Amino acid sequence: MIDCGEGAQMQLRKSRLKFSRLNHVFISHLHGDHCFGLLGLISTLGLLGRTADLHIHSPHGLEELFGPMLAFFCKNLTYKVFFHEFDTKEPLLIYDDRSVSVTTIPLRHRVPCCGFLFEEKPRPNHIIREMIDFYQVPVYELNRIKNGADFVNPEGEVIPNERLTRPSEPVRKYAYCSDTSFYQKIVEQIKGVDLLFHEATFAQTEKRELKRRITARLLKQEK
Ligand SMILES: [Zn+2]
Repeated sequence: MIDCGEGAQMQLRKSRLKFSRLNHVFISHLHGDHCFGLLGLISTLGLLGRTADLHIHSPHGLEELFGPMLAFFCKNLTYKVFFHEFDTKEPLLIYDDRSVSVTTIPLRHRVPCCGFLFEEKPRPNHIIREMIDFYQVPVYELNRIKNGADFVNPEGEVIPNERLTRPSEPVRKYAYCSDTSFYQKIVEQIKGVDLLFHEATFAQTEKRELKRRITARLLKQEK
């Protein structure tokens, strides 16, 4: 989960994602709309009888704020909550497993804040079933072949890997950048991502138009 505002639990329910599959929460910065939902979520996970550890990644200071509240409100949690805090000045690799890595993206906001770059790892090639049957490749060879090896049959003939597999899907990258003002420095880091989530409020040149819209809305409400 990326950030955990007040409505996070509701959204999680609405999207029909399993609460039990949530193991890591990435908090971009310590503003209420990005972390007020944490306490409720942690408590709910406890009520659901969770036993797996929950990891919360955030800029420095979150544990100091939430530690006492957890100690007070969530005394008998059935699982452990771990806080992993980091500095937001430079990009840092904060999570890495065999399928994905997460790196922080330093952002420009009123308080220390960072975005997150999620990068998938390349997956093994897909086996072409018909070719595997045709060349009578034994099962114990399949893992090597998925990872790019050629097959040598008992007669010593080499079957090139391209004939036995097709490439896996290209890796995807997702950059989450909120909250921030325009910050040229991040461009190099997020270049080429497949999906970008970025703050996009009004520019200075649209100030007059924004004022007009707000006034119009207020007048409408008054009626
Ligand atoms: Zn903020």
